[in-house]
Amino acid sequence: MPILPQPLQDLIDAFESLPGIGPKSASRLAFYLLKAPAYLSENLALALAELKSHTGTCQVCCNITLAEQEVCDICASSERDDNVLCVVEDPLDVLALERTGGFLGRYHVLHGVLSPIDGVGPEDLRIKELMARLGEDSKVTEIILATNPSMEGDATALYLQQQLVNHDVRVTRLARGLPMGSDLEYADANTLLRALAGRQQVD
Ligand SMILES: [Zn+2]
Repeated sequence: MPILPQPLQDLIDAFESLPGIGPKSASRLAFYLLKAPAYLSENLALALAELKSHTGTCQVCCNITLAEQEVCDICASSERDDNVLCVVEDPLDVLALERTGGFLGRYHVLHGVLSPIDGVGPEDLRIKELMARLGEDSKVTEIILATNPSMEGDATALYLQQQLVNHDVRVTRLARGLPMGSDLEYADANTLLRALAGRQQVD
């Protein structure tokens, strides 16, 4: 016999399946929603229902965008610098760099890093799409490899560096101001700005 009513247990299990949420936090959240006004649960349910159906992938940079938009706002903007392309692991890194206000170029989102242990190879990342952007009419003169300063992030940057050898672009890597093993999305804006300003050529 389950101790809790099934709907409550289901919600706890659903929360617990999310990263960073253990059994205690999952229970706390579920009980909070149970006691809170109904609109809170309704808003949450609506947001969850629309999350997948109302979002898509930008056809240029592979960042997350509205489902009805083929191209995200950053790619669509005429105010950004076409010469500099910043390659990041995931959309949260774009968010972190945008928050600094110090980067005015374009982005490319890989959606992950190379990780042989997890079975993630080059074909699983948006590398093909990146190379396609460097075709004949490309205006890109610099590519900043802004993958996280982790083993996988470094390995991915090295792989990309090798892929870019025959392209006429300057390849740079964020400066070492970021602690090893850290995540761009958790870095404060000043640290990120320093890492960006101090980026160094790797080829
Ligand atoms: Zn885009």
